[in-house]
Amino acid sequence: MDSAVGKRSIFTADFLFPVSSGAVRDGAVLVKDGRIASVGKFSEVREANPDAEVREFSGCAILPGAVNTHAHLSFRREDGPEYGSFSEWLLGLIERLEENDKRLAENATDGAREAVEAGTTFMAESSPYGGCLPYLARSGMAGTCFAEFFPHESGDGTPEGAVEFIMGKVSELGEGLPPRVDARVSVHSPYTVDPESARLAARRTREAGERLAIHLSESPEEYDFVTEGTGGLADIFSSNSWGATGKTPVKYGDGIGLLAPETIAAHLATGVGEEEIEILARSGVAAAHCPRSNENLGCDVSPVPAMMRAGIRVGMGTDGLWSSQSLNLFEETMVAVKLHNFDGETGLRLATLEGARALGVEDETGSIEAGKYADFAVVEVSPSGSDTEREVLEAAAENGAVATVVGGDIVHERL
Ligand SMILES: [Zn+2]
Repeated sequence: MDSAVGKRSIFTADFLFPVSSGAVRDGAVLVKDGRIASVGKFSEVREANPDAEVREFSGCAILPGAVNTHAHLSFRREDGPEYGSFSEWLLGLIERLEENDKRLAENATDGAREAVEAGTTFMAESSPYGGCLPYLARSGMAGTCFAEFFPHESGDGTPEGAVEFIMGKVSELGEGLPPRVDARVSVHSPYTVDPESARLAARRTREAGERLAIHLSESPEEYDFVTEGTGGLADIFSSNSWGATGKTPVKYGDGIGLLAPETIAAHLATGVGEEEIEILARSGVAAAHCPRSNENLGCDVSPVPAMMRAGIRVGMGTDGLWSSQSLNLFEETMVAVKLHNFDGETGLRLATLEGARALGVEDETGSIEAGKYADFAVVEVSPSGSDTEREVLEAAAENGAVATVVGGDIVHERL
């Protein structure tokens, strides 16, 4: 970014957690032209760069910024439907959509701000037709807006026409964006997008070398819809007649070519057994884990430890403020840490570098190492116990970030 060009700055704190390497007490990051130039002890970084500007954060830790692999910015928490079964909740959501659209700009601006103040530096956001993209682009975060499309109302309503429409929309949205923000396609879910449109969208985006997002194997009702064509979602979407496939959602997604290394599948919470994990691992698809949303909406617990053991890339996602409590990715991660009994190191990796890997952006962000963008969060904590990473996560979960730096620019600083 322009303001960072040519400038060399040292950011230093009591602790530095690069994630890609061990923690450094009295650590420092040298930032040049928006990228990380070196990492080490403050004394050494300072000696090698005596004329660099120094930003000292005493009583704090520096960690990679949070990578939110699945979020929605359209919603404001106080307007949401009540939590309950997934289909009841979704019905409430649909009823509120028209009214909600009037507040979209304000909601998305505030939501993005909440994420930035919680130390988020990269966000994968999903919204109908990419409606939240302008607000993600203005937030200071890097990221992708996944534009959801609904085939019956897109283009001429045929699968070919609908996919043509959303591909055109995404390329239009991509014009004039900041360098680290882009727009991509989302196949919303197996119960809203017909298999032919989904198959075509997956093929077209893969041919273009682009990432694709989907909600998959989320709720018991989705499971019922896909396997038997029954249940709450079949009732809501009664004209969507392609359910009753006799397959689990993961097998169905595999069968229509949705699962690939470019795809990030959110939730994978209900109906994910051993066979499904094998399929997911073989396909190379990545997962976005949203444990609070799953709990709030009557979904099962995603088998994340088994998925990780199988080599599946897993990142954390907050989902949106109508299905979860906050857009603080570190708070979401602490829920996962407790739920799966992870240590702090695993949690911190999930919130940062693993999220970047899940989205295929690990070469540019997710850890504090030379060559990557200077994307990090400064959190007020001086950890002293045996699990320092957990202390840092807890502090970030409770109080957010003192400062958030994206590409070397301070996009949030608590005064
Ligand atoms: Zn979602």
